[in-house]
Amino acid sequence: MLELVNLSKRYKQFYAVKNMNMYIEKGEIVGLLGPNGAGKSTAISMLSTLIEPTEGDVLFERRSVLKKPVSLRKVTGVVPQEIALYEDLTADENLFFFGKIYKMSGTNLKQKIDDILDLIGLTDRRNSLVKKFSGGMKRRLNIGVALLHDPELLIMDEPTVGIDPQSRNYILETVKKLNKEKGMTVLYTSHYMEEVEFLCDRIYIMDRGNLIAVGTTEEIKEILSSENTIYIEAELLNDSFITALQDELTIKKVFVKNETVTIIVPKEINIFRLVTEFAANSNVQLKSLSVKTPTLEDVFLHLTGRALRD
Ligand code: ADP
Ligand code: MG
Repeated sequence: MLELVNLSKRYKQFYAVKNMNMYIEKGEIVGLLGPNGAGKSTAISMLSTLIEPTEGDVLFERRSVLKKPVSLRKVTGVVPQEIALYEDLTADENLFFFGKIYKMSGTNLKQKIDDILDLIGLTDRRNSLVKKFSGGMKRRLNIGVALLHDPELLIMDEPTVGIDPQSRNYILETVKKLNKEKGMTVLYTSHYMEEVEFLCDRIYIMDRGNLIAVGTTEEIKEILSSENTIYIEAELLNDSFITALQDELTIKKVFVKNETVTIIVPKEINIFRLVTEFAANSNVQLKSLSVKTPTLEDVFLHLTGRALRD
């Protein structure tokens, strides 16, 4: 359906997006995952024809959208990272206003607004002013606006940042529902691993303007199939213990956060013996030592050496 070919965006000497290749098939939910500043919004702006690429092309049904952006715009709903609503209008009035922009009117628009308010769970607040809404409600309405013209492709730029867990779950479930029941194709951008893991058929991981991994959730986790991630919980963590872990050649990576140390080691290593020995030598009291199936978060640590929420 949509393809990005060697897409780049350069600001002076700085590449916000570099040589990006990506495709989205009809009916898929594709995740674009990366930390702040990775280039996600820039990529989305280019593929939704809001900014022009420095190099490369975007193909919609095999035709370049750079020359003919209209065909793509007609079938695409974009939920921008920044909320774009009129605060002094009600939910209803906002939908009505944006419906008019899409040249909708009459009972068709009225029915559509009813359906959307129901979908985003705001029917009982339809006559409230947007400025009275919580962040989560504004997000949901913002999504509603993007759905007015029945898009085939929904592009969402970090739609759950800074909102309450309830609205977040509502949004995730709504995306699943739109995909399942209406066959809507979705490009979902996030810096939350668990969201893309929950939603997406395929995932692209991006860091500093570059794609660093592509595949199904399972394939991406396979990256770590020869390694284990071990979580060490301890009291009285000290530098000598951490240094011992870092100096141990069989341990590939060491991350410390609060009372937990995460290490990545090859599967065949008997790490329990080593860790207990180091702990004894440096007077650290181990509370627990556990091996977990790798999450996407681990994959990101593995690929970049940095935590995703840094
Ligand atoms: P993300 O959405 O993944 O957080 P962005 O695409 O917003 O990342 O930004 C990627 C990088 O490009 C950032 O370092 C950002 O500062 C830079 N950038 C984005 N837009 C501009 C611009 N108009 N001029 C200069 N730099 C920009
Ligand atoms: Mg962004």
